[in-house]
Amino acid sequence: MGAGLENAKERGKEMRHEYANCSFCGGSVEEQPVTVDYRTKAGLVIIENVPAGVCRQCGERYYTAEVVKAMERLATSGIPVSRTVNVPVREFSENFIS
Ligand SMILES: [Zn+2]
Repeated sequence: MGAGLENAKERGKEMRHEYANCSFCGGSVEEQPVTVDYRTKAGLVIIENVPAGVCRQCGERYYTAEVVKAMERLATSGIPVSRTVNVPVREFSENFIS
């Protein structure tokens, strides 16, 4: 855990991105590490610690072009994955609309 935190901090230092105010609500956008469910042709990849601009009012996320490109490269790279998780799948049901 300690080493992971150090890496995250270092990554945070070298990755500073600028964001405009939220285009939905006009709120201020602050950079935060987020988890992204990234879909590739080969399937779903979860990418953690992605630097994203997050609106402080509505929570909308913004990614810079560089970060989007990096996610694409990372998702399809041959680098071994950090870990694999099992994800439960549910079918939507109209009965759950109240
Ligand atoms: Zn917003």
